[in-house]
Amino acid sequence: MPKSFFIDTSRCIACRGCQIACKEWHELPANQTRQQGSHQNPPDLNPNNYKVLRFSEYLDGDTVRWLFFPDQCRHCQDPPCISVGGSLVDGAMIHDSQTGAVVYTEKTSKISEKDFENILSACPYNIPRRNPKTGRISKCDMCFDRVSHGLVPVCVKTCPTGAMNFGERKEILDMANARLAEVKKTFPKAMLADADSVSVVYLLTDDPQKYYKFSVAQNDSGMDRKMFFAQLFRPVRKSASSVLRG
Ligand code: SF4
Ligand code: SF4
Ligand code: SF4
Repeated sequence: MPKSFFIDTSRCIACRGCQIACKEWHELPANQTRQQGSHQNPPDLNPNNYKVLRFSEYLDGDTVRWLFFPDQCRHCQDPPCISVGGSLVDGAMIHDSQTGAVVYTEKTSKISEKDFENILSACPYNIPRRNPKTGRISKCDMCFDRVSHGLVPVCVKTCPTGAMNFGERKEILDMANARLAEVKKTFPKAMLADADSVSVVYLLTDDPQKYYKFSVAQNDSGMDRKMFFAQLFRPVRKSASSVLRG
């Protein structure tokens, strides 16, 4: 059964527990960072951070408002990254048909830098990152090792407020719509971001652009016209789930 996340930003307190748990579970090394005048640290996704708590603040009249956005791969229902790069190296980029997880393996290190740029440009959410030393392309893998053994992703397990949720897609969408109806009473602009096309559904309480440029899908993320139309009219590819499930 396809899985989905529901990320309720109205419940997020920016503790960054999810960000740290993700690093620990994946045994990702620390980054050297410095204070940049923002709660957001590191400043962006990188090969050692599959998840970053994005922070923004703005003035609403005399009131300072803070918005928190735990950013990660959306595990798109029809992933543009796979459409562009899925056939470059056998077994490097996989769309698991059972869970819906989009997983990049160590074989992505065989993908050229130029092809990586095309893959990144195709992603409407600006997610994949490439390690310049190893060439490996990485991002959130839905904690596929945990999920395929019946566990929830470690970021969901860690979240102390109920902002992170995970489960069967129908149940998650029901949960998201029920919560949206509740939150709209306080925040009339509240919305579910791109709920029909992604497996990671965010509830936003305000204008998406106040959170982060890529909080909703962008078509101006660098994809050139040729690539855009190639993606639109691409041939149907077979699922590679058997690679993951042996
Ligand atoms: Fe691929 Fe980007 Fe969608 Fe993730 S968010 S599945 S990297 S296109
Ligand atoms: Fe990280 Fe796993 Fe959460 Fe993805 S699902 S952000 S890999 S902890
Ligand atoms: Fe927000 Fe939960 Fe992540 Fe903390 S663990 S930053 S509350 S989503």
